[in-house]
Amino acid sequence: MYKSFLIKYGEIAIKGKNRYLFEEALVNQIQYALKDVDGEFAVRRLQGRIYVDALSEYAYEEVMEALAHVFGIVGICPVVLVEDEGFDKLAADVISYIEKVYPDKHLTFKVHARRARKNYPMDSMQLNAMLGERILEAFPEMKVDVHHPDVLLCVEIRENINIYSTEEPGPGGMPVGTNGKAMLLLSGGIDSPVAGYMIAKRGVAIDAVYFHAPPYTSERAKQKVVELAEIIAKYTGPIRLHVVNFTDIQLAIYEKCPHAELTIIMRRYMMKIAEHFAEQNQCLGLVTGESIGQVASQTMQSLAATNAVCTLPVYRPLIGFDKKEIVDISEKIGAYETSILPFEDCCTIFVAKHPVTKPSIKVIEKSEKRLGDIIDSLVKTAIETTEVISVTAGE
Ligand code: ATP
Ligand code: MG
Repeated sequence: MYKSFLIKYGEIAIKGKNRYLFEEALVNQIQYALKDVDGEFAVRRLQGRIYVDALSEYAYEEVMEALAHVFGIVGICPVVLVEDEGFDKLAADVISYIEKVYPDKHLTFKVHARRARKNYPMDSMQLNAMLGERILEAFPEMKVDVHHPDVLLCVEIRENINIYSTEEPGPGGMPVGTNGKAMLLLSGGIDSPVAGYMIAKRGVAIDAVYFHAPPYTSERAKQKVVELAEIIAKYTGPIRLHVVNFTDIQLAIYEKCPHAELTIIMRRYMMKIAEHFAEQNQCLGLVTGESIGQVASQTMQSLAATNAVCTLPVYRPLIGFDKKEIVDISEKIGAYETSILPFEDCCTIFVAKHPVTKPSIKVIEKSEKRLGDIIDSLVKTAIETTEVISVTAGE
């Protein structure tokens, strides 16, 4: 029965003269989210409001589900829009709204009228009282409760009159694209997809880089990363996924460097290569799924050692999260089932039994000298042979 959805947005409403840009980004993201939903939709801005209008038949759940992925939305209200044709007509429209939406009338209610247009002949107090009266006449089973009503019936007098009584929560945050772009180091694990989600929630668009080590990591492991990128692309928008063949670099490190330092040195090369692609793609920072102390390579000393090779800022949105908290978000965003699929990643194959937990940057730099000149050409080749996959939201 709903032909329109009223989109409520919080934080972005306060951005002063940038507001226009924020609204535009939000409209773009809504359009992106709806493009795979069956049906035809129009998204329009009107007097500080955004509406999604259905121009054809559609499945309600599908639209709600799509909109629930759009950062910047705080609430989604299925709304009935009616023309202003006098109070009697409005009262009839409100009654027919209740008739359809609430088959069981044993409910308490409150009318919450608002005039965005002050030339309406009644003020909101009068509207509340008079509409309330008409509702009680039409449905004697209903009762007024001004404190905790079952139904809060919102009636907003705008160009059209908006009638709605439900608000589904949106994901909050800011529309993607309003805060630049970052390069996500995306592995097949649980953490990095969540990190990508978190940074995108603050309006940052995302590209990604995955370090692949065939034949030690399978084609299926790579496919899993593509699937994870498709899952987060529902929230982040399209992602350019860079798949770097990292095998020769890993083998060189394995051959030449102390095994206890393998992971740290490998991570440093990952960061360097990720930074190269970040700069090439106008990204303003790198993003990882690291969290302090989670594993040996994420102690404060290890993080300092990996950080030292980058000039771009490295954002770690999960830095203070426990695994349980990360898993909860992973489940919420629909990534968990894919993340736990049992495919090896390149870090698990070249791990040492006893990795250093407090690496000194000086010592690590000295170990890296053992890689000699070949490492530069290996890095160059890895960059040149990188495959770029354009990922958009999967089914
Ligand atoms: P995740 O669950 O994200 O794989 P993790 O707990 O396995 O994280 P590590 O393997 O130490 O932790 O990796 C830490 C971070 O380094 C990851 O969150 C990710 O950002 C990055 N990273 C690790 N391996 C890769 C890879 N093969 N390709 C791209 N990024 C990687
Ligand atoms: Mg991992």
